[in-house]
Amino acid sequence: MYRHEIDEQKRTLKLWVRRKKGNKLLRCSNCSGLCKTIEEVRDREVQDLPWRKYQTTVVVEYYRVRCPKCGVRVELLDQLPSKAPFSKDFEDAVGLACESAAARQVARQFQLAASTVRAIDQRYLERWAKTRKKSVLRQLGVDEIYLGKTKKFLTVVSNLETGEPMWFGQGRQKDTLDSFFRDELSVLQRGRIAAACVDMWEPFTASILEWAPQCRIVYDKFHVMQHANQAIDEVRRAEFFRKGGPLRGLVKGKRWLLLTRWVNLDSEKRQLLNDLFRLNRRLLKAYLLKESLDGLWTYTYEGAARRYLHNWIDQLRWQRLEPFKKLAEMLLNHQEGLLNYCRTPVRFGVVEAVNSNIKALLRRGRGYSNLRYLLLKAQRLAALKTEFLVLRKVA
Ligand SMILES: [Zn+2]
Repeated sequence: MYRHEIDEQKRTLKLWVRRKKGNKLLRCSNCSGLCKTIEEVRDREVQDLPWRKYQTTVVVEYYRVRCPKCGVRVELLDQLPSKAPFSKDFEDAVGLACESAAARQVARQFQLAASTVRAIDQRYLERWAKTRKKSVLRQLGVDEIYLGKTKKFLTVVSNLETGEPMWFGQGRQKDTLDSFFRDELSVLQRGRIAAACVDMWEPFTASILEWAPQCRIVYDKFHVMQHANQAIDEVRRAEFFRKGGPLRGLVKGKRWLLLTRWVNLDSEKRQLLNDLFRLNRRLLKAYLLKESLDGLWTYTYEGAARRYLHNWIDQLRWQRLEPFKKLAEMLLNHQEGLLNYCRTPVRFGVVEAVNSNIKALLRRGRGYSNLRYLLLKAQRLAALKTEFLVLRKVA
């Protein structure tokens, strides 16, 4: 530091810094290559971390250097990470604050515009992303998120092994996923994908089989169980309207109970369900069917799983449970993808976890019009959770 200025009224502090002349290596900001000649010396003013209640500005001396490859360029300086008027330390502090608070709150804390905070946060995350190792994609998860009436759907591709989202695309057409395979992966990378966990949305399956024909499609257990839950809810509603008088009151308000797995209910809740089942055998049957479908994923032998599925479907006979008949038909049509789980077990739940993380971000942040930013945010969130788990294992 060779100069400073303090304004006590305005509470500002200004520092002029310059590095010692000597053996500092100069690098080109364009290609990071070594440069020898200094063309020009310049100053840049950036906001730095505050000192007490003083807003601190630092005037940094930097060089324009002659790069053998790129010509005259600004040198690469860690303290000046971008063209924006903030030092790296300042940007890191803002980025860190954004990990646990919404951009609007951080903006208030640092007295910046929310859009500025988002831009800083994105640069912070880009720098972090650059330092990471690229992991091999062997198991892929594809899911969609409903964003609302105007933006419709977001397609989310994740790496099931790392548990991280990899790519977002607007829409949920075959084209959407096609562009992931075409633009993001090389032929070699596409060839390495062994399995994909998807819901029963045909356009995704079609795209995967076109670009990675060797890949096994495994239907996501959570999505299948969601269909089973929808079926039991339809039965409940039908029973509700069919019954009159006091029985109607009994079915009313039991939706959540019927959707919850038996093992997760306490004795009081189980009693409530038992009371209901004593009076309504059809709901009991539907509940047992939903509960037992889960058993399909406990098999390691394909033949046994196939037998289990067919036995399950046989139980539907004479039951007059239309929603379950529809479900059975769907399961039969997607049989191969259901049984593929025996051949290639994938981690179910990753897709769900990634999905709920993104939804949490969207709820908290609002206005993620920038998909790249949303992706970086979601990746950071997933990575922080894994790091935390690793730390816990060590401790
Ligand atoms: Zn260069």
